[in-house]
Amino acid sequence: MRVLLTGGAGYIGSHTALVLIERGHEVVLLDDFSNSSPEAVRRVEELTGARIPVIEADLADRSAAAAALEGVDFDAAIHFAGLKAVGESVVEPTRYYRVNIDSTLALLDLMRERGVTRLVFSSSATVYGDPEYVPVDEAHRAGVGLTNPYGWSKFMNEQIIRDAQAAWPRLGAVLLRYFNPVGAHPSGRIGEDPSGIPNNLMPFIAQVAVGKRERLSVFGDAYPTVDGTGVRDYIHVMDLAEGHAAALERIEAGVEVYNLGSGTGSSVLEVVRAFEEASGRPVPYAVAPARAGDVAEIAADPSRANARLRWRTTRSLADACRDAWTWQSANPDGYAA
Ligand code: NAD
Ligand code: UDP
Repeated sequence: MRVLLTGGAGYIGSHTALVLIERGHEVVLLDDFSNSSPEAVRRVEELTGARIPVIEADLADRSAAAAALEGVDFDAAIHFAGLKAVGESVVEPTRYYRVNIDSTLALLDLMRERGVTRLVFSSSATVYGDPEYVPVDEAHRAGVGLTNPYGWSKFMNEQIIRDAQAAWPRLGAVLLRYFNPVGAHPSGRIGEDPSGIPNNLMPFIAQVAVGKRERLSVFGDAYPTVDGTGVRDYIHVMDLAEGHAAALERIEAGVEVYNLGSGTGSSVLEVVRAFEEASGRPVPYAVAPARAGDVAEIAADPSRANARLRWRTTRSLADACRDAWTWQSANPDGYAA
C-alpha cells in the first residue's frame, strides 16, 4: 500500500514509517514540523534505504493541505498529526480543539473526495478517564469524566470518525487507543525528542540519567497501588508501530476500536528502577504532589488486538529502557545536535 502518514515526522509516526517500509509499503509523510524535525525523516531514510516524500503543510488548514496533496496518490492514511501536551491543552483549549479537530475533518473530506477508504487514527487510553476496572477492555465506557481538552479532542475525534463512516459506509476506520508509548528504535538513531521540559515520565527519566536534569519529581506516592505511585501500561514504540501495520493490513469497511498496550502495569518507581538497571546510571528522585487530572492506575486488556489483528507486544519494559537509553545517550540534545 501507499500510506499517507499525517504527523509522520513525529515520535510514533517516524517509527511507524520505518516499520511500514520494512514490511514493503510505501509511505508519504505530511507534517508541519510544529513538534518534529526533518532530521527524523532523514534518519528513517538512512535506516531503511528508502526515499521518503515529505509534504510540509498544516493539515488543519484544509485548503492548504488539499493544495499540498494535489497529485499525491495514497491508498490509506494513518492520522498521527495533532497536539498532545495535556497541560498545554488546559491553558490553550481553543488551539488544541482547532488543530486536533480541524485536521481530522480536513483529512476525512480529502479522503472522501479521492475515494481513499482506509483510515487508522491515533486515539488514546485517556478516553477511558478514571477507569472503573483494570485492565480496561474496549467495552469499558469512554468519554466520561475526562479532565482536559486534549483527552476530549481524542474522544470527539473518535465520534467524528464514526459519524463520517456512518455517512460513507465504504470507509474502513480503525481507532487505536494507545497506552503509554516509550522506548526507541534499537539503533538509537530515532527516538522521542520532546521540546523543552518533558511532560512524560520516560523522557524525563532519560534526561536525568544523562545528566541534563537534576532529579525526577514523582507525582504522588499515596495512590492505592503497589507502592503508592501511579501505574501505567508502557508499550515499546516498535511494538506500537507494528500494531499500526497489523491494523492497516486488516482494515475492512466499518469502525473497529483496539487497545494497543502490553497488558502489564508498572509503577513510577518500577520504571525508575528498570531505567537505572538498563542505563547503569542513578536516577535521583523526590516525591512531589500528585499531578492534577492523573488517575491512580490504568492498564490495557489487549486481547481483542491480540486475537483479531494477530498482534502482540514482544518487547519488555527493560527493552524499552535500554533502547530509550541508547537513543538518549547518543543524542543528548535530540535531533537538534
Ligand atoms: P508527536 O508530536 O511527536 O507527533 C505529532 C506530529 O504531528 C508532529 O510531527 C507534529 O509536527 C505534527 N503536527 C502537529 N500538528 C500538525 C498539523 N496541524 N499539521 C501537520 N502536522 C502536524 O507526537 P506522537 O507522540 O508521535 O503522537 C502521535 C499521535 O499519537 C498524536 O495524535 C498523539 O495525540 C497520539 N498519542 C500519543 C501518545 C503518546 O504518549 N506519545 C499517547 C496516545 C496518543
Ligand atoms: N510522572 C511522574 N513524574 C513526571 C512525569 C510523570 O511521576 O515527571 C508519572 C505520572 O504521574 C504518571 C506516570 O508517571 O503516573 C506516567 O505519566 P506520563 O505523563 O508519562 O503519561 P500519562 O499516563 O499521564 O499520559
